[in-house]
Amino acid sequence: MAERTPWSLSGALRGMFAKKTIDEETWDDLEAALIMADFGPDITDEIMDDLRDNVERHRTTDPADLKRMLRETLEERFSRLNSTLTLSNRPAVVLVVGVNGVGKTTTIGKFAKFLRNFDRSVLVGAADTFRAAAVEQLATWTERGGAQIVRPQHEGQDPASVAYQTVEKAQREGYEIVLIDTAGRLQTKAGLMDELSKIRRVVEKLTPIAEVLLVLDATTGQNGLAQAQAFVQHAGVTGLVLTKLDGSARGGFVLAVQEQTGIPIKLIGQGEGIRDLTGFTPHVFVQNLVG
Ligand code: GDP
Ligand code: GDP
Ligand code: MG
Repeated sequence: MAERTPWSLSGALRGMFAKKTIDEETWDDLEAALIMADFGPDITDEIMDDLRDNVERHRTTDPADLKRMLRETLEERFSRLNSTLTLSNRPAVVLVVGVNGVGKTTTIGKFAKFLRNFDRSVLVGAADTFRAAAVEQLATWTERGGAQIVRPQHEGQDPASVAYQTVEKAQREGYEIVLIDTAGRLQTKAGLMDELSKIRRVVEKLTPIAEVLLVLDATTGQNGLAQAQAFVQHAGVTGLVLTKLDGSARGGFVLAVQEQTGIPIKLIGQGEGIRDLTGFTPHVFVQNLVG
């Protein structure tokens, strides 16, 4: 992962950590680096205060100490929520939700691959039934991921009905994990939320839902956060997936989104390849971020 972290702070921090001592310029540079990384003004202020206190308490002037403290502070904050996926139910049903274009379908293919690497059997449900092309795209990604798919029986079939049939088949045939793709655009936001509620209600006739993963495009910054709120309020979201962290995204956004929604990040996508999805491990993430 280390070879492609465009969101890393380390470039911006290199100069300040190369110096012999911590001075006012160090603090200015650090603040600028955190703002550039999209932590947002509030989190940046809190981190700066924490670090100033710490540096004072330890009476250090060594930039290497400051770097270590920065890592510790960030890791502590990234770890406040539990990033573990809850997939122990059989079948474990995962609903994947989010607006159009964020990467839901791609994520399902990558997630299937990720689970197949742990020898889990995976069944994918094509509950985005609006366009035949959406089903075909999902079928392609499902095949890449080494999983099986349940397609709608006809174009425009009730998404809840496809979800139901998928879970029913998984129960009948003993699949361990079910991943349900959903639509990201309906005429109205209320319509979309109603559709998602209906899918949940119908699936829950068969089994509890293990995870509702909200996919967010990390390159959209604060915009993406605004979109997230409707899902967080109405779709029972249990985890976030941040995609496109290989793009122009800033690593600090990851913390901002977790703290503002109060929902843990569980997966991160860093590319368009089938293997470009990993779990979210604060320690590793912060190592890559700070260097
Ligand atoms: P959906 O509408 O939410 O289902 O989104 P798609 O899965 O169709 O993805 C929309 C676009 O984003 C596609 O071109 C994907 O290849 C791209 N995409 C998804 N995830 C990533 C990622 O992690 N990195 C990059 N660079 N592109 C991604
Ligand atoms: P309603 O359409 O608002 O009345 O919602 P329902 O809870 O009745 O069902 C929504 C969809 O899920 C329906 O279109 C059905 O296809 C599907 N569904 C719900 N319950 C069952 C069931 O027991 N068997 C099957 N095969 N499908 C079901
Ligand atoms: Mg899609």
